[in-house]
Amino acid sequence: MIALTLDRIAEITQSRIHGSARPADVVTGPVVIDSRQAVPGALFVALGGERVDGHDFADAAVAAGAAAVLGSRPLAAPQLLVDGGDAEVVAALGRLARAVVGELPQADIVGVTGSSGKTTTKDLLAQVLRRLGPTVAPAGSFNNEIGHPLTVLRADEHTRYVVLEVAARGLGHIAHLCRIAPPRIGVVLNVGSAHVGEFGSRAAIAQAKGELVEALPGADAGGVAVLNVDDDAVIGMAARTAARVVGYGLGERADVRGRDVRLGEDGRAAFTLQIGARSAPVRLALVGEHQVHNALAVAAVAAELGMDLDDIAAALGEAGAVSRWRMEVAEGPGGVTVVNDAYNANPESMGAALRTLAALARARRSVAVLGIMAELGPAHQVEHERLGRLVAESGVDCLIAVGEEAAPIVDGVRSVAGWHGEVRQVADTAQAVAALRGLLRPEDVVLVKGSRVAGLEQVAEQLTAEE
Ligand code: ATP
Ligand code: MG
Repeated sequence: MIALTLDRIAEITQSRIHGSARPADVVTGPVVIDSRQAVPGALFVALGGERVDGHDFADAAVAAGAAAVLGSRPLAAPQLLVDGGDAEVVAALGRLARAVVGELPQADIVGVTGSSGKTTTKDLLAQVLRRLGPTVAPAGSFNNEIGHPLTVLRADEHTRYVVLEVAARGLGHIAHLCRIAPPRIGVVLNVGSAHVGEFGSRAAIAQAKGELVEALPGADAGGVAVLNVDDDAVIGMAARTAARVVGYGLGERADVRGRDVRLGEDGRAAFTLQIGARSAPVRLALVGEHQVHNALAVAAVAAELGMDLDDIAAALGEAGAVSRWRMEVAEGPGGVTVVNDAYNANPESMGAALRTLAALARARRSVAVLGIMAELGPAHQVEHERLGRLVAESGVDCLIAVGEEAAPIVDGVRSVAGWHGEVRQVADTAQAVAALRGLLRPEDVVLVKGSRVAGLEQVAEQLTAEE
C-alpha cells in the first residue's frame, strides 16, 4: 500500500479520528481484516463476523503494530471511527481503495468475470504478467466488496498490474466493484447457467456480467474488452462497451485464436496460438480442455500489455494451478489417478471435467464421484438428469452420486440405453470413500466434483492420503 496519514485516511473514508489516534501517524499497510495478520504500519479493519466481532481484536492488532483500527464501535485504541455499522465500514474500505488506485496511474487494472474459470484465469494471468512486472492478484476467490478493496490496497508505487476476479451476485454488483477499482481491461469468459437460480435466466446473468465491459474506458482512453467469440452471450456484449473489443477463442472471428487443439494423455491441452499473422505452439501445464479458452483470454490480455507472442506461449506452458481443488491431479495408492475438481460445479464445468476424465482415462477405467450442482433453482432436476446422461455418454465406467439431492444424476445415467457401468448412490462423503474402497482397482482414474456445499474435496484428499 502507499503510505497515508490517519488524517488523510479519515478524509478519504469519511471517518473520524478517535481514541488514541494521532492524525499525523502513518499507515504503510497492509490493510487487514484478521488481527493475526497485523504488522507494524497495518490498518486493521474491524468487521462484525457471524460469531465474533472484529472490534474485540482491535487491541491485539494494535499490540502487533497496527497503526490504527477502522471500525464502527468506539474504541480506546487509535481509531478511524465510521458512523453506522458494518456496511458503512465496508463502504469506507471501498473509498480508501478507490483513492489509492487513483494515486497509482502506472498500475493497469484487469478485471476478469464469467460463470466458470474466473479464479483459474486470474491465477494464470497473474503468473504470466509477473514476467512483465510486479503484479498484484488476490488469493483464491477473493472477489467481493471486501476482498476486492483489500486486494487493490496491496498495490503500491511499484505495481504494474492488478488482476481482479470480479463476481456478480446480482445486478449492479459488478458495476459497484468497478467503481472501487476501475479496470482498463475487462475479460468476460463465458455466460453459463451457474446461479440461474438467483438470477432467473441466462440473459439476466449476461446483463450482470456485462457491467464489466460497460465500466471500461472508451477505446480512445485505452479501454479494452477481451471477449470470448465462441460464446454468443459474451461476444454480444461488444455492443455494450465503448472500449476496443479483442475477441479470443477457436472461431474464425477471433483476434487471438487457438487452432489444432489436442488433449494429451495427461489431460493437458496443446494448441497453436495465433495472433494476427504470427503463431506459436503452446502446451499448457494446466489440466483440461476448457483451459484452452482460459489461456486464450490470458494471451489476449498479455498481448495487449505488450508481451511478445513467444514469451506468452512459453509463460502459458509453465503456469500451473495455484488455487486449490480446481483440476488438481494427484496419484493415489495403486497407481490410481485422482482429479480433484471439488471447488465447485455447474453444468458447464461438469461437462469440461467429464471430457477431461475421458481424455485421462482412455484405456483405463474411469470413475466419477459427483455431488450436486447448487444454485440451479427450478432447473435442478432437469440439469442433474442431463448430467447423468452426459456421464453415460462420456463413457464413464462407474458413477458414485453423493447426497440425496444427487438422485436425478442416477436417473439420468440409468436412462441411457446401452450404458452398462456401475452406479452407487451414497448419502455423504464418508460413504463415498467407503464405496470407493470397495470398488477401486489399480490404475483407475477418479474425478471428484460437486458444488462447494457438497464438500467433496474430503473424498479426494482421503483417496490420495491413503498410501
Ligand atoms: P467461483 O464463481 O466459485 O469463484 P470461478 O469462476 O472462479 O468460480 P474457478 O474456481 O476457476 O471458477 O473454476 C471453477 C470450476 O470451473 C472448476 O471446476 C474448473 O475446472 C472449471 N472451469 C474453469 N475454467 C472453465 C471454463 N472456461 N469453462 C468451463 N469450466 C471451467
Ligand atoms: Mg472464483
